[in-house]
Amino acid sequence: MNLLPFGKLPAAKPRSFVPPTIDLGDWPQIAPLFDQLEVRAARATTAAALERWLLDWSELNAALDEEASRRYIAMTCHTDNADAERAYLHFVEHVEPPLKPRQFALENIYVAHPQFDRLPKARYAVFNRDVKNHVTLFRAENVALETEEAKLCQQYQKLIGAQTVKFRGEEKTLVQMGRYLEEPDRALRQEAWELVASRRLVDVDKCEEIFDQLIRLRTQIARNAGFENYRDYAHRQKGRFDYAPENCFQFHDAVEMEIMPAVRKIQDDRRRQLKLEKLRPWDLAVDPQNRAPLKPFAEVGEMVSRTQNVFNHLDAELAAGFQQMQDLKLLDLDNRKGKAPGGYQSTLSEARVPFIFMNAIGVQRDVETILHEAGHAFHALATRDEDLYAYRGAPIEFCEVASMAMELLGNEFLEEFYPVAEANRARKTHLEGIIGFFPWMATVDAFQHWIYTHAGHTRAERKAAYLQLMDRFGGDVDYSECEAARAYSWQRQLHIFLHPFYYVEYGIAQLGALQVWANSKADKAKALNDYKKSLALGGARPLPELFAAAGCKFQFDAATIRPLVELANTELKKL
Ligand SMILES: [Zn+2]
Repeated sequence: MNLLPFGKLPAAKPRSFVPPTIDLGDWPQIAPLFDQLEVRAARATTAAALERWLLDWSELNAALDEEASRRYIAMTCHTDNADAERAYLHFVEHVEPPLKPRQFALENIYVAHPQFDRLPKARYAVFNRDVKNHVTLFRAENVALETEEAKLCQQYQKLIGAQTVKFRGEEKTLVQMGRYLEEPDRALRQEAWELVASRRLVDVDKCEEIFDQLIRLRTQIARNAGFENYRDYAHRQKGRFDYAPENCFQFHDAVEMEIMPAVRKIQDDRRRQLKLEKLRPWDLAVDPQNRAPLKPFAEVGEMVSRTQNVFNHLDAELAAGFQQMQDLKLLDLDNRKGKAPGGYQSTLSEARVPFIFMNAIGVQRDVETILHEAGHAFHALATRDEDLYAYRGAPIEFCEVASMAMELLGNEFLEEFYPVAEANRARKTHLEGIIGFFPWMATVDAFQHWIYTHAGHTRAERKAAYLQLMDRFGGDVDYSECEAARAYSWQRQLHIFLHPFYYVEYGIAQLGALQVWANSKADKAKALNDYKKSLALGGARPLPELFAAAGCKFQFDAATIRPLVELANTELKKL
């Protein structure tokens, strides 16, 4: 039984190194390929031979990546199928663990290779920089600490996952409680919000305990690698060669100066529309005019054909790409029993085609998601001709430009889904969401900068530092009598626990997306051409060059942000 939605996929290139009949889920068949690569590296005496070797390693990586993706896709499309689960777990448990040290060994061989410096400089600059960085940061003594860290992260997830409340006689998860914050009945919203907040407060000390241990471990990991603090280590480990902590601080300041006035204005409009004296934390998610939710489509087929129409308006090449995804059945979009929650875009790295997974139920959020994931898919399609596997992927700061810009560009044609007034309502919600994201991004990022550069701080000092950030970025929401909930609201941001310093990327990317959108207001054809050109570069160039190719500045200062906020404000006035 084929558990994948798609059939045989067109090969991007025939294999020249990986045997055609190999079972890539069977480690004993894979290991000899690593042996061969090690032997052949030693025999590569010219730059051309080393380049050939890189392409073979690349082919193997793509084949292994596609194998992992296929198993993941099958499992998430059929969570109730035991074979799919077994196949996925087999790969995770029996292929990935022995794979990691073999990959690392090849990286070491590569950076120490006599031909390493003789490879064409411009072509390999980014790749060599990244591999070197990975090799340089490795410390054997950190392996055990990282296992320890993963265990603590799991403890946090378990703690948060177990949080439920009893609401109106029924046990509900906190995620399920979210929908009551959209209820027009204010007393009901308050009741739901307070119940959730008090449940979270029960676990405050447990979260603090886990977090203190995480900080200690991470600081030790950084020191082992020769860094003064974990912040500097994390920036290097994430390959942030093109921006530094100072740029992040500049970003936070710019958000405070340029974006907070727009946030306060949106909050004030909301307050007046809701006819309230003060905005309280339970007034932030409800539609300010108490309208019923938007219904963009009744069934998924409609969503797909309307999305296709949006791309037809936008650009012939992108439209052809989305049509090809339909023809090859590279979409699994409907919500049905036995499917994992959420949405993602995955790339089948050997066929070099994208796949989109989501759970559409007929709400506006689905339209945003399909546009977003299609942006990622266009990125994958744009890099099909690149033979170096590592360059078919870009850094996250730019990947999210591809997807977030597509939300904004696609939103210009929401009339495919709605009458004009409703399309404008959807655009307004989307733009306000973008503006409202920046202060939270700045809070999460600035808080972590403080945490990891203030070793040995007390819990009280940490709380005070966070409250200062809430004063800067929280806007005009009245938290009286819910001060504790405000002071510990960071504890529900899982990135702070699980993926430290991974958040500012979304802010950086959103600035790029807004610039692409602004460019399209001035010259739609040029903006789209630049967008496509930049996507085709994949990860072959450093971030500032990827942004430049897309027609954007790679800067997060007030001068870059100001015109973008002005444009958003002008557009919001029209809606
Ligand atoms: Zn994304």
